[in-house]
Amino acid sequence: MNDEPAVHIRDLCKWYGDLQVLYDVDLTIARGERLVICGPSGSGKSTLIRTINALEGFQKGEITVSGVRLTREPAVVEGVRRRVGMVFQQFNLFPHLTVLENCALPLRLVRRLPAAEARDRAMHYLTKVRIPEQAAKYPGQLSGGQQQRVAIARAVAMQPEVMLFDEPTSALDPEMVKEVLDVMVQLAAEGMTMAVVTHEMGFAREVADRVIFMDDGRIVEHAPPEVFFTTPRSERTQAFLRQVL
Ligand code: ADP
Ligand code: MG
Repeated sequence: MNDEPAVHIRDLCKWYGDLQVLYDVDLTIARGERLVICGPSGSGKSTLIRTINALEGFQKGEITVSGVRLTREPAVVEGVRRRVGMVFQQFNLFPHLTVLENCALPLRLVRRLPAAEARDRAMHYLTKVRIPEQAAKYPGQLSGGQQQRVAIARAVAMQPEVMLFDEPTSALDPEMVKEVLDVMVQLAAEGMTMAVVTHEMGFAREVADRVIFMDDGRIVEHAPPEVFFTTPRSERTQAFLRQVL
């Protein structure tokens, strides 16, 4: 731990081939901060958070994670990924491993914990997401909400400094959204630094310190939730909020 912000992004530009998808993005995430990112489909939300843990490269600008400047160097990428946990819309669990093994395996491979210790820690985090009784099952035997909670437990068990969520409830049946959001609210209450791409505006109101709205690869609105939801500056944000609220 140090005094650097968890994430600092400056003048970030990214292209896929000829298509520019991020334009001069500036963003700082302080330690302990909860940031919600929203915006229409295709506006660059996933690309932005995927650049933070080096799942995507970028052509211009600078990203630092806890003061470490992100490059393509394998040692740097590996170091950043240890600090940054990620949860995806599709849970990305290993189908051939049990729930417990899903959580324990990265602890053994990446954190080099002995097997028994990895299992104990995995169990601790499965208990935190309130599904210890599912530990011996395979992902395919669980509901979507349960699978997503396993994915959260697996990421958080690595004790990252920052957690990134990319539409974690978008693939879930409506009745399962709350159980996943509840786990995320609990994580936030425990002080986890989080950046969450979501259209769950109730979650944003309850948890976010700041909300950003992206459109066409740019951050067009950036405000605390009480301002964001009542007096957004841009017409695009107002139109978006009319649709989702
Ligand atoms: P969002 O998450 O806000 O829906 P994305 O970051 O997924 O937006 O996409 C931003 C833009 O980049 C879109 O125009 C999308 O079509 C494009 N894009 C995303 N991923 C790729 C890719 N791997 N190759 C080419 N274009 C991509
Ligand atoms: Mg996306």
